[in-house]
Amino acid sequence: MDHREVRGLILLYHRVAEVQSDPWLLSVTPRHFAEQLEVLRKIGPPIRLRDLAQNLREGKCPYRPLVVTFDDGYADNFYNAKPLLERYEIPATIFLTTGCMGQDREFWWDELDRLLLQPGRLRRALHLNIDGTTHDWDLGEAADYGEDVAQHHRNWRPWDKHDPSARQSLYRALYQLLRPLPADEQRKVLEDLRTWALAKPRGRSEYRPLAIQEILTLAKGDLVEIGSHTTTHPVLSACSAATQREEIQQSKTYLEQVLGSPVTSFAYPHGGQSDYTAETVALVREAGFACACSASANVVRRAADPFRLPRLHVQDWGGEEFSQVLSRWLDS
Ligand SMILES: [Zn+2]
Repeated sequence: MDHREVRGLILLYHRVAEVQSDPWLLSVTPRHFAEQLEVLRKIGPPIRLRDLAQNLREGKCPYRPLVVTFDDGYADNFYNAKPLLERYEIPATIFLTTGCMGQDREFWWDELDRLLLQPGRLRRALHLNIDGTTHDWDLGEAADYGEDVAQHHRNWRPWDKHDPSARQSLYRALYQLLRPLPADEQRKVLEDLRTWALAKPRGRSEYRPLAIQEILTLAKGDLVEIGSHTTTHPVLSACSAATQREEIQQSKTYLEQVLGSPVTSFAYPHGGQSDYTAETVALVREAGFACACSASANVVRRAADPFRLPRLHVQDWGGEEFSQVLSRWLDS
């Protein structure tokens, strides 16, 4: 390894919470989060995202910069993450999906989990019109889904090869159909699904997005930076240039009005390489952002593009495992 090569890591979190159901591994428990912050303090320095971006632009960088970021804007960022960030004095950037803030509905991927993967009885047959096409499913005996069975399937992940029941197959199919759709179309499908499931629109409180007052309190002080994650969390590469511009610009303007200060950091929704394009990057620059994060896992090198910053998705690892993962990335 070239000892002059700067390697940093930007960490991608979503939630600090203990939840029953977490198919995408978005949650880190408060205990593990505290252990991880302790590790960061030891091997750091933990720095601000905007300082990292500024350093990259100036071609200088501290040794091994580490940055904490959160995507989406779950309320637990305020209740569980912020007190721990304060205790360890570690700065963080929280990227908000502004159209979802202050709502009592869940993010669409969580609502799918609530409607399909939680114990209870559903009708066997489901017919849904999605984006002009009718789809039919039959849940078979998985229509009746007991507590013990749901508990037994808790560790299923959408990328697993085997689905333990028709519920997981339906979840995956709907997730893939909904992912590229505009938010109003997603909402329509979820409404139909709720009607079919005889479920209420109100979401589970522990899956709630941040409320405006909570965002204001989060942003108080110098520790937490608020960034933009668009208005409706679309796959930007699936949108027209006009829609992309609107999604990027509107969320920035909205946050600046709410906070009364400039918002200069952006994170691409979903964040995979195929979820945004060179055009997206140009639009983010044009909107006046100073940096943008993807979800491609990699270290940050001195030559990194501040508008395509890689990030490492952090899982619910204890301190020791977290420390090992970081060393693998930083020292390899
Ligand atoms: Zn996101």
